[in-house]
Amino acid sequence: MAGNWKMNKTRDEALQFIYAVADNLPSIDKLDSIVCAPAIVLRDLVKRQGANLRIGAQNMNENDSGAYTGEISPLMLTSTNVTYVIIGHSERRQYYNETDVKVNEKTIKALSVGLTPIVCVGETLEERETNKTFDVLESQVKKALANIDSNDVTKVIIAYEPIWAIGTGKTATSDQADEACGFIRGLVQKLYSLNEASKIRVLYGGSVNVKNVKELMAKPNIDGGLVGGASLKAEDFITLCNDAVAVKY
Ligand code: PEP
Repeated sequence: MAGNWKMNKTRDEALQFIYAVADNLPSIDKLDSIVCAPAIVLRDLVKRQGANLRIGAQNMNENDSGAYTGEISPLMLTSTNVTYVIIGHSERRQYYNETDVKVNEKTIKALSVGLTPIVCVGETLEERETNKTFDVLESQVKKALANIDSNDVTKVIIAYEPIWAIGTGKTATSDQADEACGFIRGLVQKLYSLNEASKIRVLYGGSVNVKNVKELMAKPNIDGGLVGGASLKAEDFITLCNDAVAVKY
C-alpha cells in the first residue's frame, strides 16, 4: 500500500504523520506500507521509519549527477536510504512532459541502483470511452519495460492508474480495476514467457479510500493500492493498510 503525498505536508506535518502511523501498521511480512513523500522530507522520514514502514520518493532523474538544476538523483535517494520511487505518475507525464522513453530510462536506472520502481500507467477518459484502454496500457507497459530483463522485471511494481480516476473522487469499479490489473499481469507474463511474471506486483490507484479499499483489494489481480488524497491522513492510511491485510489474508 503506497501513499503518494504529492506536493503536500510541511516538515512538521510529515513528522506528525510518521509518529502517528509508526506503531499501527501491519507487519512487513504481510504488507509493504510505503509513504512516498516530497524530496525535502525524505531524510527526516527515513530516520524515523519503523520496521513496518518504507519511504519512497515521487520522482527521480535518470542520471547519477550533473547539470540538472532542481532535480534529485537516484544516488541521492539511495544514500538517504529511500527504497521506493514512483516513476511516470500521470501528473508528471501531463505537467512535466515525462515521456514513455524517460519512464523507461528512469525505471532502468532505479533498478540498477537497487530502488524499487513503482511505474504508473493508465488511460485518459477519452481513451477509455473509445475502447483504447488496453492498447494504451500495452503500449505504456511495453515501453516502460523495454530492455529490462526477466530477472529485473519481477522487481518492478506497476500501478494501474486510470487518469480519469485520479484525484477526481471517481473510482474505477472494482471489476474495471481488476480487469486492467489482470491485463497488465498477463501482458508481462506473455512478454517474458515466464510464470514468475505472476510475481509482479500490480497496484490500482485512483480515488482509493477507506470506504472502497476492501472491495478493491479483494480482487485477485489487485495486489495493493497507490493512494493520493486518502494517504494524507494518518488515521486513514492506517485503515487502508490494515484493511488490505484483512482481505488478502
Ligand atoms: C495518485 O496520486 O496516484 C492517486 C491515485 O491519487 P488519488 O488517490 O487522490 O486519486
